[in-house]
Amino acid sequence: MNRIQQNTADWKWQLRNQIRTLHQLEALFPLSHEEKQAIIELDDLFRLGITPYYLGLMDPSDLDCPIRRQAIPLLAEKFISPQEIDDPLAEDRDMPIKGLTKRYPNRALLYLTHTCAVYCRHCTRRRKVGDPGSNNKKDQITKAVEWLRHNPHINDVILSGGDPLSWSDKRLEGLLSQIRPLVTVLRIGTRHPTTLPQRITPELSAILAKYPPIYIMTHFNHPKECTPEAAKALQMLAEAGCVLSNQAVLLKGVNDDAKTLHTLHLWLLKNRCRPYRLYHCDYTEGVSHFRVPFHRGIGIIKKLRGHSSGLALPEYMIDLPGGYGKVRVSEGKKKGNQWEFTNWEGYKITIVDE
Ligand SMILES: *Cc1c(COP(=O)(O)O)cnc(C)c1O
Ligand code: SF4
Repeated sequence: MNRIQQNTADWKWQLRNQIRTLHQLEALFPLSHEEKQAIIELDDLFRLGITPYYLGLMDPSDLDCPIRRQAIPLLAEKFISPQEIDDPLAEDRDMPIKGLTKRYPNRALLYLTHTCAVYCRHCTRRRKVGDPGSNNKKDQITKAVEWLRHNPHINDVILSGGDPLSWSDKRLEGLLSQIRPLVTVLRIGTRHPTTLPQRITPELSAILAKYPPIYIMTHFNHPKECTPEAAKALQMLAEAGCVLSNQAVLLKGVNDDAKTLHTLHLWLLKNRCRPYRLYHCDYTEGVSHFRVPFHRGIGIIKKLRGHSSGLALPEYMIDLPGGYGKVRVSEGKKKGNQWEFTNWEGYKITIVDE
């Protein structure tokens, strides 16, 4: 093995060599005129970031490559549909303390960082993710943990971001050791098994194994992401005693057909990761080109039902704009071109189907 090959297996090498500029990307990958233009015009809005590993999964000859479309922008991101807003889930409003969102009586999201291995073009938190200046500061996290200690009714905490596994092992262990005793359910939402599977090292696995049970929520969207490296990452996590489930996003042109999802779900199950949810694309600014209409999403799920083990069927959910929480799309009522959803507290929210 030569030196370069050895380095690619090192997650720190992958992050150091993350592709961040048009200049770097052009040198490695043939871009269309539109992609180049989009990278230039969107530079201020939502940064580019791709690991060499994830870039390696892209098809240079296919503009519709599902990996490419999740990581390289198009000019369509400049379009903001009337329903789209900066913070669609009102996550910054529902913060009892900085850096922690509490929407439900018993659970909370704690943001560790806004750094990711790949910046997904469909990201809900694109308003802040990728901006190092907006990362939670050390003392904010200490205060958030203190807040959790004083709010014992919160028994389910989701470490989120950005990607929590962007933290060093040492820092992560420090936090896990503090939070683990405070809650029953401890989840880590991470896309690293998909975009930087090298991050799952024996050292990290040993740390995770010390604080059971840890629920890992992955984010695989397409079978092209299902590589031997990713399988190995899932295997190591499972062997460390983590319980794995996947949250995918239904994305037009990426995974909006039953066959693609069926293949994805089978691979996940084979790798001990349960397809937990398939999300309707959030109403974040600039992602309407990814959004699949509700009736099509419901049709896809129906189709899956006959051909899949029940274990391979995720719940198709929408996280309601305005911070009203998550509901099953199938519970929505179609009224003309609008859909009405009732959240867990009985509020009714109407959405125009795009
Ligand atoms: C999604 C979410 C949760 C977790 O929801 P589950 O349905 O329990 O998976 C918790 N808090 C917030 C703010 C969320 O957005
Ligand atoms: S990994 Fe998650 S937080 Fe990071 S850009 Fe992708 S969707 Fe957003």
